[in-house]
Amino acid sequence: MSYDENQPSTRPRRIGRGNLTIAIAALVPTALAGWLVWKAIGGPEDNEPPKVLPVPSRQTTAGKPGPAPSPSSPASSPATSAAPSPTPSKRSASGPLAGKIVVVDPGHNPGNFRHTSEINKLVDIGTNRKECDTTGTATNDGYTEAEFTFDVSQRLRMLLEKQGATVKFTHTNDRPFGPCVDERARIGNKAGADAVVSVHADGSGVGNRGFHVILPALVKGGAADTAKIVAPSRDLGERIAGKFVRATGSAPSNYVGGGTGLDVREDLGGLNLSTVPKVFIECGNMRDPKDAALLKSSSWRQKAAQGIADGIGSYLQR
Ligand code: ZN
Repeated sequence: MSYDENQPSTRPRRIGRGNLTIAIAALVPTALAGWLVWKAIGGPEDNEPPKVLPVPSRQTTAGKPGPAPSPSSPASSPATSAAPSPTPSKRSASGPLAGKIVVVDPGHNPGNFRHTSEINKLVDIGTNRKECDTTGTATNDGYTEAEFTFDVSQRLRMLLEKQGATVKFTHTNDRPFGPCVDERARIGNKAGADAVVSVHADGSGVGNRGFHVILPALVKGGAADTAKIVAPSRDLGERIAGKFVRATGSAPSNYVGGGTGLDVREDLGGLNLSTVPKVFIECGNMRDPKDAALLKSSSWRQKAAQGIADGIGSYLQR
């Protein structure tokens, strides 16, 4: 989950209940346009139709905290196997993405569990003040979101570098906690990134399944001004969603985004403070046993990274 699993009751709602119907009604045609873009850019192998699911009601269980996972418990999990080395591989001097800068933001940090007072401190996200970071969620058997996001991010880095991109991480688990969400945004900005992706997995109720990509809403306040990144971020997000379906076979979320695999949020500092195109991806729901089985599979994580890389590559070569 992205920055709200600890305090669901105080979480700023991105859509008020009264506006839900209107919001979904507005979202569906936009998303369909996105799928058309995806079809248009994907070539003949993209003829597989997107799975458009019935518009769901937003579940109130989304974001509820589960039992606190032990930070040390995943050590023996099969999910930890086969992760690529965190050491950056040698960047190709050439390739279709040569000259492009991609910032990858592995959501959370495994050390956040031991630094709750630090990560609960509020930081300025322009439109509001928000916790520095959160612990993230975990599967019921203790595979943490932070471990998942770092694994997928490493795989993503290798795939992008193979194509010549310059890849920078917001952190490599080299610090005891964080970075805070405002710093995560600034790292992408300072790098002059052509695209930024923040990798997450969700912590929702059993039966809530699938991935969704979170796009920045149009916000302005303090240091936050997303006017210039809303459109390119949507383009980036739509391409990632389409490629993610193809690479993983996973359906778009059945509980967020009305079956589109896309959501728009105005409460995430990592998006609000970004001055470069940026999206989050919630790769699946760690609290659903079926999704959790996928998220714990190293071969599935490779497919997930491939889908994200394909989406980024498509966006950067548009
Ligand atoms: Zn998260």
